[in-house]
Amino acid sequence: MISEYRGIGMTSQRTRERLVKRLEEQGIHNVSVLDAIRQMPRHLFVDEALASRSYEDIALPIGHGQTISQPYMVARMTEALVETGPLNKVLEVGTGSGYQAAIMSRFADTVYTVERIEPLLTRARRLFVKLKIRNIRVHYSDGTWGWPENEPYDGIIVTAAPVEIPQALLQQLQIGGRLVMPVGQQGKQKLVLISRTESGYERDVLNQVSFVPLLSGTI
Ligand code: SAH
Repeated sequence: MISEYRGIGMTSQRTRERLVKRLEEQGIHNVSVLDAIRQMPRHLFVDEALASRSYEDIALPIGHGQTISQPYMVARMTEALVETGPLNKVLEVGTGSGYQAAIMSRFADTVYTVERIEPLLTRARRLFVKLKIRNIRVHYSDGTWGWPENEPYDGIIVTAAPVEIPQALLQQLQIGGRLVMPVGQQGKQKLVLISRTESGYERDVLNQVSFVPLLSGTI
């Protein structure tokens, strides 16, 4: 296993630096977020056949019609949540490969992540064990309903796009907490940042984006 890490690690150190530099040029300034991207072995979150492309700033297929998010998006969403300091509980909807959760796990006491496709969740869970990441809890369910057992969350990150923000997610957000997610029809999605205040919710639009759709039910 060591040679597996070392072998790919050696050849990819320069490509990782190139990725971090590109993210910086695109406006990611949080040094801790850039460090997390630099250190996380993204090649382990994709199929071996795609490992050589894993430090490019692109989404890649992970099976079941899903994709591992583009590193820029992961960095942007993480940065938006951690801007106000370290977080206690973070909910992620859409575990997929587990990459976003693994990055987020460095900024939160506990990351709770929910996925509707069981084989993806199983693979991600194994990877967290292999990487010795111990503060991620996984749950097989339709994340449209959030994960009510652990609410409220100081951060919520959704990595698939619904047409409208699910009410349950707004309700499970702590006062002072932040929710970052893509919203809208395919081709017209926007990345929004919602902050919950004493009196309600504030909404900012960050970027035009393209995510896979948030679907209902489990498979
Ligand atoms: N965060 C992932 C991105 C995966 S793509 C990563 O870093 O790799 C988005 C994921 O959201 C897919 O795996 C998809 O199955 C999942 N998803 C879509 N709708 C969902 C829902 N209602 N509940 C939970 N997961 C959902």
